[in-house]
Parts: sequence; C-alpha cells; structure tokens
Amino acid sequence: MKDRYRRFSYLSDIEGMKNAIGEMKGKFFPKQPLLNRNLTFVTQVPLPDEEWFIKTITDKIAHHPENGMEYPFYDEPIFDKPLVGFVRGDDPIFDQFKQIIGQHHFTPFEIMKWQAENNGVSPPEASDLSVVSFVMPITRKTKKDNAAAIDWPSERWAQTRLAGEIFSQTIVREIVTDLMGHGILVIAPDVTPKFNKQRYPKVGWASPWSHRHVAYAAGLGTFGIQDFLITEKGCAHRLGSFVVNLKLSPNRQRPEDIHANCLHYQGRKCLICVKRCPVNAITAENAHDKEACYQKVAKSLKYCNKNYHLFIYGCGLCATGVPCESGIPKPLQTD
Ligand code: SF4
Ligand code: SF4
Repeated sequence: MKDRYRRFSYLSDIEGMKNAIGEMKGKFFPKQPLLNRNLTFVTQVPLPDEEWFIKTITDKIAHHPENGMEYPFYDEPIFDKPLVGFVRGDDPIFDQFKQIIGQHHFTPFEIMKWQAENNGVSPPEASDLSVVSFVMPITRKTKKDNAAAIDWPSERWAQTRLAGEIFSQTIVREIVTDLMGHGILVIAPDVTPKFNKQRYPKVGWASPWSHRHVAYAAGLGTFGIQDFLITEKGCAHRLGSFVVNLKLSPNRQRPEDIHANCLHYQGRKCLICVKRCPVNAITAENAHDKEACYQKVAKSLKYCNKNYHLFIYGCGLCATGVPCESGIPKPLQTD
C-alpha cells in the first residue's frame, strides 16, 4: 500500500473498491489454498500449538511490511502488538450464537465442512476444531487523531480501515496457506464466497461470521454499549479469526457478563460514547442503533474519497476519546 496516492480515487482506488465489495458480498478474494493431502496430522511433529499461533501472529504484526500506513504517514505501523485467544470448535456458545445472532451465523463445524468438501476430505468433528481469534490494537497516533474528530473519521483512521483490513486478510491468508500446505485444514470464513452481509429482521446488517462474537467467545473482551468489543487493550482495534483442525486450549477466562468491561452497564457514570456519536445512534435506553450508525458510516465513503482519496467508509468516533478506548476502564480493572 505504501506508494499509492490516488488523485482520482473513485476511479483509481481499485483495491479499496474490491475490499469494500468483498467485505459486503464475499467477492474478489484470492482462491482458497488447497489442502496438501500427501501430508497428514501424523507426519506433523510437532503440531502447531497455542504458542505457535501467538508467536506467528505477533511476529507478523511486528515485522510484516504490509503493516504500514501510506502517504502521508509513511513508516508508521497500522497496528500494535496483538492479543490472541482460542476457543474450542464444539464450545456450546456457537449454538447460542445461532439463537442470539441468527441461524445464518456459521458454527466452526459448518464452515469447516465447506472447506473439507472443497478439498475432497471428510469434515472433522467439531471437537477436533478450534477457533483462533486475534485483536490488533490501533496505534496511539491514530486514536489521538480520531479522538479529535467530531463528525467524520480522521485520515489515519480511514487508512487503518482500508489498509488494516487488507493487512489482516493478508496475514491470515499466509497462515492458511502455510497450514494447508502442511496438510492441516484451516479456513478464514470472512475471505470466502460464503461471507455475505445482509440485513436481517432481528439484528440488522450482519455477516455469517462475526469476529467480535468470536473474540468474546475466546475471552478476549466484552461488549460496550456502542457494540465495540472492550479488550484489555481497549476497543479501538481490528479483529480477525479463523478455524483450524487442531485441538487448542482456551487461554482466557470468558466473563459470563457480556458487558463486564463497560462502565455504563456496570452501574458507573460514563456514556461518553453517546456524546461522541454525531448522529445520536447510541442512547442509554436503546443502546446502539445499528441502522442509524450504518447510514452515517455509509455517508463517510464520500467524505473519505473527497478528503483522503480513499475508497473506504468508517467512523469509530465512539471508540476513541472514550474511557474504554485503550484498555478496560480503570474502575473495572481487577488486577
Ligand atoms: S464509553 Fe463508557 S459507556 Fe461507552 S462503551 Fe465505553 S465504557 Fe461503556
Ligand atoms: S460508529 Fe456509529 S455509533 Fe459510533 S460514533 Fe460512528 S455513527 Fe455513531
């Protein structure tokens, strides 16, 4: 991304357009890498374990050349050191997601079945699957810029939405390619043709694989009233996740209370995110109005194009300049 400054972004930001359509309709992704069926589990000694995934994701974020902003912020990273968590493929929470989010939300087994059938092998049991989830915190400079914004996202934030999403897909694709090449079935649901965002009567705009819900399942954070996931590194981040045919052990305790890290829901004075929203899409009474938020975010496409030459939409005002921006708010920290 580093050397692409677009004078006519509506015409020239092909990568941005492809990314936006891909995010909505599951299109333009590179083909899924094929499973190397000559190698099997038995030949993999040692198998990748929890430490391998934590180290691999952390190293990619620390050293990958694509974790970099473009003009005029050359040499700045997009993301800081990640958090990585695991959840078992047969965790009952995935059935609960069917009730809470909708029947359209994949269980790890359902999406892995698709991958297995594409590769001519039998689908693994749900108990032989794990989901790897990771949180990529947005940098201090980007958060500071967005905290100063009052109507539209800052340029660093808009770049992070676009280049950061492409980066996230890149590193996941590298991990998927590596493991599939070593005979281990793995799939990142959000970069397959199965990923198709739609409006649903119960939950509004939703995708069949929610990184946020998966991250909650992995114990990485809980939801704020503005619907962002509040993690120990805050709620200003991008999330990623993938399903792998390995038995990995959960490394974090998932709070029962899905709002454990939000001051408002814990009876403390806050609602600063409510004041940050330029279109009143968050209220104490009705929490986050997804439709009002969607309308505002969709309009930001024009703003980002005109001002930053980026074909991207975004906002994140309610995730910056708030007590949960960069960590669990102090009054709720247990350590
Ligand atoms: S700003 Fe306050 S009320 Fe809003 S999500 Fe964060 S902690 Fe909760
Ligand atoms: S992301 Fe949505 S809810 Fe948050 S400030 Fe922007 S429009 Fe409001």
